[in-house]
Amino acid sequence: MSGYFNKTLWVLGAGQLGNMLQHAAYPLGVKVNPIDIDAAKPPVLDDNDVVTAEREEWPKTPVTDVLSSHNNFANQDFFATIADRYLQKSLLDKLGLATAPWQLVKSDDTEAKIFQNLGERVLLKRRKGGYDGRGQHWLTQAKNSTIPDDWHENAIAEQGIKFDEEVSLIGVRDQNGQCYFYPLTLNLHQNGILTASISPLDRLKPLQATAEAMLTKLMDAVEYVGVMAMECFHVNDELLINEIAPRVHNSGHWTQAGSNISQFESHVRCVTGLPMIQPSVRNTNFMINLIGTELDKDWLSVEGSELFWYQKSVREGRKVGHINFSKTGEKNIQIALEQIEPMLPSQYKETINWLKAELLSENKSA
Ligand code: ADP
Ligand code: MG
Repeated sequence: MSGYFNKTLWVLGAGQLGNMLQHAAYPLGVKVNPIDIDAAKPPVLDDNDVVTAEREEWPKTPVTDVLSSHNNFANQDFFATIADRYLQKSLLDKLGLATAPWQLVKSDDTEAKIFQNLGERVLLKRRKGGYDGRGQHWLTQAKNSTIPDDWHENAIAEQGIKFDEEVSLIGVRDQNGQCYFYPLTLNLHQNGILTASISPLDRLKPLQATAEAMLTKLMDAVEYVGVMAMECFHVNDELLINEIAPRVHNSGHWTQAGSNISQFESHVRCVTGLPMIQPSVRNTNFMINLIGTELDKDWLSVEGSELFWYQKSVREGRKVGHINFSKTGEKNIQIALEQIEPMLPSQYKETINWLKAELLSENKSA
């Protein structure tokens, strides 16, 4: 006997998401092996094993060849749809799920035609490979901006949405088709990259049922198993889907501190066929992403901070870790925010102010 559950979960990709899946699976007795797609020697899998991915797309390598040809690759066909924004948006349209108005940038499309179809502020997004705001280009009529070379056919154009705020829903679907949800998360993006999240928030409760119905429709349509994230724009009491991630998601990292079953554990349970139950959520939770910042041991001295450091080399704009807080009471939230603020680079001032404005009544605008 190995002491482990009788199947190994292989993760295509060895970044932080794979590591956090492994971390969450340890107490369940599930062995998780995240695999670097560029590793020289591909792994040998058992028929009984299961494969998942921490990224939407991957190049052909000896490792990805072996993993992607395994019979138990959860949701494998769905990855190709999501990895191409054109196919992803087409699927949302087909299912009647509200999304930002959009079109493919066709070979003969001009800027004028796109402005005519979508309005004077349009965001071009590369069909493939973009993340953290990369692979995007604003077309603004007033600035006479132009479509970059080689973006025709390789990008979609989306109407620039003047949203009130951005929210996301983390959903889970088990192998019996039962769906489970975490409460909606409020997200702050700065320069296209997620910097902070909060969940739950009372004022988002009225949107919960609508959001769950939208994501259920999508997960059921593709018979999804595991965790899926739905990023939305909140505009005038409506939700427009921005994009879908077929995996654990940065806006669900708070569940590590705020739920008895984190999004990582939910995903492991579902894809390996272990029993799944409704996760319960405690306290008010918030997460601060560490972006391009050096590791600082002082973060550990902040009351209630839960650090996840990804052990990657630090580069500007790169997500290198996050800190979760699970708190009750405004006073405790305020103390934590005031302690952490001077330990973060100056650009976090805006992030902390946003957290204060959302979480502390005296900072709330009327
Ligand atoms: P990524 O894969 O980089 O997360 P997204 O499509 O989510 O790509 O875009 C990143 C961010 O850019 C969003 O979270 C949002 O802040 C902004 N954004 C994306 N699409 C639009 C849009 N149509 N209108 C306005 N802002 C947008
Ligand atoms: Mg996004």
